[in-house]
Amino acid sequence: MASSALSWEELLEALPDGTALLDERGDIRYVNEVLLTLTGYAREELVNQNVEILVPPRLRDTENVARREHGRNPNTRLIWSDQNLSVLRHDGSELSIDFTLSPIAFEGQSWAVASIRDNTATRELEQAHSDAERRAVAAEKIATATNEENEQRFRLAFEDNMAPMVFSSSDGLLLAVNDAFCEIVGRSREELIGFDSKLFTYSDDIGLSEEIYRRMTSGEAERVRYFKRFQHKDRRIVAAEVSISPARDSSGQARYFVSSVRDVTEERALTAELSHQALHDPLTGLANRALFDDRLAQAHARVVRQGGLGAVLLLDLDDFKAVNDTHGHLVGDQVLIEVARRFEKVTRSSDTLCRFGGDEFLYLAENLASANEAEQVAARLLDVLVEPLELVGAHIDQHASLGVALWDRTSPDTIEIVRHADVALYVAKGEGKGQYTIFNPGMNHRATGHFSLERELQGALAGGQLSMHYQPIVKLSSREIVGFEALMRWRHPEKGMVPPNVFIPLAEQSDLILDLGSFALHDAVAAASSWKQRCGEASELFITVNLSAHQFQDLGLVPMIENELRTSGLDPRRLVLEITESVTLHNVTKTMNVMERLISLGVGFALDDFGTGYSSLSYLALLRPRIIKIDQSFVSPTRESIRNDTLLEAIVTLGNKLNMIMVAEGIETEAQLARLRHLGCELGQGFLFSPAVSVANVPAILNTQPFDSAEK
Ligand code: C2E
Ligand code: MG
Ligand code: MG
Repeated sequence: MASSALSWEELLEALPDGTALLDERGDIRYVNEVLLTLTGYAREELVNQNVEILVPPRLRDTENVARREHGRNPNTRLIWSDQNLSVLRHDGSELSIDFTLSPIAFEGQSWAVASIRDNTATRELEQAHSDAERRAVAAEKIATATNEENEQRFRLAFEDNMAPMVFSSSDGLLLAVNDAFCEIVGRSREELIGFDSKLFTYSDDIGLSEEIYRRMTSGEAERVRYFKRFQHKDRRIVAAEVSISPARDSSGQARYFVSSVRDVTEERALTAELSHQALHDPLTGLANRALFDDRLAQAHARVVRQGGLGAVLLLDLDDFKAVNDTHGHLVGDQVLIEVARRFEKVTRSSDTLCRFGGDEFLYLAENLASANEAEQVAARLLDVLVEPLELVGAHIDQHASLGVALWDRTSPDTIEIVRHADVALYVAKGEGKGQYTIFNPGMNHRATGHFSLERELQGALAGGQLSMHYQPIVKLSSREIVGFEALMRWRHPEKGMVPPNVFIPLAEQSDLILDLGSFALHDAVAAASSWKQRCGEASELFITVNLSAHQFQDLGLVPMIENELRTSGLDPRRLVLEITESVTLHNVTKTMNVMERLISLGVGFALDDFGTGYSSLSYLALLRPRIIKIDQSFVSPTRESIRNDTLLEAIVTLGNKLNMIMVAEGIETEAQLARLRHLGCELGQGFLFSPAVSVANVPAILNTQPFDSAEK
């Protein structure tokens, strides 16, 4: 085997992961450079120390599964991946890692190989430079001596490593593979050694692999972590994250490559399923609002760059409520599905059709030659409804009205474009149904009644019509209250209660949301600190406050929160800010910066409505919130949001694995509660326990908890 020519130190140095050899007592006997770089220690500071030196104090005393398992059976190999594990660095900071521990009998004693991998993807870049130097040093040491001991050390760190690993030549031929790798591609050593890696690389990814080899051989890249797909012998596709690094000889030539592989098939499948569900309407299968907004933003940016004409068409079914009332919801659903199918038939491949919600649909037309063409699209959409709908048990005449907003590079933002379509739709409805109209600025005043809510909201804050209500968050095992979510309420003098789902988006269209946001924070922080005085033991309760993405762009946010905390005396650890993935739609670096400043104050973050945004898993990795709030569509699916049960299970498992606290939203029944408890979800909120109540009612709720079981 070509690679047996390596000495064991060289081999350990060539491994892409931080690796330490531990003796029976857990004393460190050897560490490679990667580990030194990752932890910031010098070799002499680690060798002969106990491995505890690398364990953060908070993990030393806790019931750590890895340590317990290892203590119980030191001969089992352990892989801890995706755990919220970290290693304590020399400077006292923690580095989030994946961890593998492989025991090995060596020189008659039980040793272990511990390898850690930095799972903070961003660190990769920071380290490229020092890695390059490290590789150069390691390459110089390559020798050709071979003996028994080397073989044994090689087995210890490579063949027995639980992480799939491969040594390959610079032209992609396999020199050595370990058992774990054989398993991942379903082939024996004999079927792999000496063969080209193309043999088991998924055909679409062969070009990518070749490009990586080319870049590494030419020295353009030093260490690369990338995603590729393998083809298992049984034809199954295995998604893998591969870390590859070259070992260079003294002339700088790459002599061979070491790759270590992580199977991410399940993670990928979950991400794909989540993002499909998150971007499509479950009833009709059409794109949903989030996907539409994204496409519109892209189209708008293209037109601003290159010029051109586009249109947004907003369709609303006429008198749809009557269909629901007369024929029932099942028929109503059938109508929506059938209408969607008909619209789809006349949707051009370059355009996007989406269900906007309820009985409204949005159509994005791109690359129009003229306004006339937009009218043709509008006419085609209305025409498909001329024939009555033939449903099981009913023939229904269903028409629609349509508002068209044309836009070009001079148009303001995308929110304004949709609003223009809304105004035009409003006018179309007023002129008799089954018609379309095209927006013109003169229409604005005719539609003012429609938008007066926005103006009234401006006066609502000053007029004392807004207040905060508090919904208990409960420990699911004991039904005890552990915290409250602050939710805003608007009591309109004529319309009564206006739901936040209506007025928050309105406020978000302007800076009004900043005033509403300050009001919410001030009220919530004051309420939470008063519970301490009035309810003694309630001092540990946490309070969560919803933050809009727009607030993150405001320079005043951090000082405002600092000020609220100071004047109220509330322990910052009791304040949790709820954000959604949409915060990252703005400037990501700026958002992360603001988050870090708040975290350094002691404030925590919760990711709200998890599972409804874009590619939820990648945002999870980026934002690393302390709490995940599982959207209520997973917990209490309505007719329209039939979410996959296995997805709920996957989300809870994932969150627990990442050591995040899971809060289920919208628990309404004992059955839902039982299921969530069974899945291991720790906290929850919902009408089963209590709706949001006014601040005056909070003490009463605290006095009567824990909440009774409805079955008692
Ligand atoms: P959210 O943050 O996801 O809040 C949870 C929503 O679920 C609340 O609706 C709550 O009343 C409702 N809910 C709780 N338990 C149940 C249940 O068992 N069944 C059902 N069907 N619903 C339940 P609410 O108060 O109408 O608020 C809606 C959304 O408005 C909030 O969703 C949040 O995104 C936003 N919002 C509310 N207050 C504020 C605020 O002060 N600032 C900002 N930026 N957004 C807010
Ligand atoms: Mg919330
Ligand atoms: Mg929510």
